[in-house]
Amino acid sequence: MRRFFAALLALALSLPVEAGAAAVVSFRVPMGGSPAAASAGAAAAARGPGRSLPLEFSLGAFEIGPVYESASRELVVKLDAVANIPPGSETFEGTVLAVERAYADFAEATRPLFFLSSVSPDPAVRGAVEAVRRRSGRLWAEQSARPDVYKAVEAYAKRGEELGKDDQRLLDDMLRDYTLAGLGLSEERQRRLEKINVRLSELEAAFQRNLQEWDDALAVFPEELKGLPKSFIGRLERIPDGRVLVPVDKESYGKVMRQAVNPGLRRRLYYRKQKEAAKENLPILKKALTLRHEKARLLGYRNFAELALEGRMAKTPKQVWRFLQRLRRLLIGAAGPEREEVLERKRRDKPKAEKLYPWDTAYYGSKLFKERLNLEPKRTRAYFPLSHVLAESLKIYEELLGIRFEPVTVEVWHPEVRAYDIRDAASGERLARVYLDLFARPGKRGGAAAFTLVSGRELPDGGYREPVSAVSASFHNPAPGRPALLYHHEVKTLFHELGHVMHQTLTAARHWRFASSAVARDFVEGPSQMMENFIWKPEVLKRLSGHYQDPTRKLPRALLDKLLATRSYHAAGAALSQAALAAMDLAFHSAAPKDVLKVYRRVRKFFTGEEPDHASRFPARFRHGMRGYSAGYYGYLWSRVFAQDIFSEFEAGGLISAEVGSRYRSIILENGGSVDADELLRRFLGREPDERAFLRWLGVEPSA
Ligand SMILES: [Zn+2]
Repeated sequence: MRRFFAALLALALSLPVEAGAAAVVSFRVPMGGSPAAASAGAAAAARGPGRSLPLEFSLGAFEIGPVYESASRELVVKLDAVANIPPGSETFEGTVLAVERAYADFAEATRPLFFLSSVSPDPAVRGAVEAVRRRSGRLWAEQSARPDVYKAVEAYAKRGEELGKDDQRLLDDMLRDYTLAGLGLSEERQRRLEKINVRLSELEAAFQRNLQEWDDALAVFPEELKGLPKSFIGRLERIPDGRVLVPVDKESYGKVMRQAVNPGLRRRLYYRKQKEAAKENLPILKKALTLRHEKARLLGYRNFAELALEGRMAKTPKQVWRFLQRLRRLLIGAAGPEREEVLERKRRDKPKAEKLYPWDTAYYGSKLFKERLNLEPKRTRAYFPLSHVLAESLKIYEELLGIRFEPVTVEVWHPEVRAYDIRDAASGERLARVYLDLFARPGKRGGAAAFTLVSGRELPDGGYREPVSAVSASFHNPAPGRPALLYHHEVKTLFHELGHVMHQTLTAARHWRFASSAVARDFVEGPSQMMENFIWKPEVLKRLSGHYQDPTRKLPRALLDKLLATRSYHAAGAALSQAALAAMDLAFHSAAPKDVLKVYRRVRKFFTGEEPDHASRFPARFRHGMRGYSAGYYGYLWSRVFAQDIFSEFEAGGLISAEVGSRYRSIILENGGSVDADELLRRFLGREPDERAFLRWLGVEPSA
């Protein structure tokens, strides 16, 4: 164990330290790409004439199964046809493109269906969709690992025909997927890989289930609950001895940690939280990491992180380590004083306090935040009625990207859903459609997300499939006497999701595999995070706000200033914590650790300077490490860096700049995944991307 970690740290530390204090270094991976030669107008291939796909959202539960069945049969039949091509007569169209189209057809038939499990008001429909979705996972895994189809594609590849850039990229990508599915391995190794995959999905499901089903509560006397809101206390279950039960779930835990005056209560809940699925999940995590490591070795990689980074923008674990190291070096200086401020705040209550305990940080942190910024979210909210915010947001997107949103009356899945056609402002041509389903309701998926229902792609007849997206959010419904109002963070959410939608719908990529937001996974949050920046600009907030009783009353200056001050408040420490999590995730996947807790403790200490409490069992509830996103946590910070760099161009161009917006649309959005993200960034920026804008955003001086 010690040796493993020492080696890991050695790897991290032996990386070259950039000369002197000039810490701003480009992230460019050495790959011999041409520097920013392409000019502003470098657009993706133009789209052919639009072809829309009629969508039906009113399927009954009994219809779901048959629709899915017919789509899956078609997929198999189309792949059979590829497998049955007589050896020697393989063509690009008959193999590579045929496989690609088979998957695209399947996705077009099933994605709108699967989407219903998140939004359908009918529980029977949601249940029916969940059932076919599980089957689809198995079908996809089976079909994408078919040796007979692989043979045909491989036979075509061996002919070495000269292909255009897009087609070559498609072939390379497809071959890589087959390799990762184990199709280049001996039969014995393939069987082992299959076993590992099955076991891994069982372990991952068990890990999530243990957390989901964890049911625990702390019994406390009502007088211990000082500081907590009455509405919260009122909901707690009472037991016969007069005490009440505080559930150990996310909501209650957060509330108690931030608001409970009694440190004893916070401490007890903290320790109780550490038991959450810990006994069950720590061994599961360890087993999964061991299997992932074995899988990576079978496929010829040194470790799982290397395997997971295939096709991502960061390319190698070493590159991610460099990135996290650099963040640590740049942020640790600013994070220390932030923490000191919180300790100082604690000393105002407890003059003899020497340190912050884990159950103090959120409590004194939020006290300090409230005292210093005195933000009144409820007051701010009155200035953001949803109808006004939405109309103005769409206008801003129109001005930026040269498009037009046109409301249309079409069949939807719930009366609250609004649909818009997206048209090119210059030509009037319809490009795509978007559905907005913004209110919370029972049975609907929580949180917010943007879904690609139909992805763009070139069709066999030369036409272009019109993309369709949907945003699902859970904003508060209108209350009696007033319309739906948004908190500022919800305005941010709206901008974020619309940022995804633009990436999904303004695509012009030829192949389905690279269209819409099918970009490297560590870049997918780039466009959405970039758009969030706009809502921190006074001129934009002025446009977006308008009191619900009198729309001419804009957000008052005093509220605006307070709001703006919250953005970079203690941001260095928050980013450093994210970097620590990303490093832990990467460390977990850089070898098969014998003791996950030890790795966690040491990485955390190294990154934040603070050793976690001896009782902390955080890895047992780190859901990200046990999902498809393993070895990918760094992606949030990574894409944020590029988001800020892109946004700096808008700032330089006067913010709502149609010129910068048109470059952004044609280079970043239209190309999607058909060109490497770092190449797109170089084209857009006209230089190597760097982290200066990101550091400014955190309030850290780049040369610090
Ligand atoms: Zn997002």
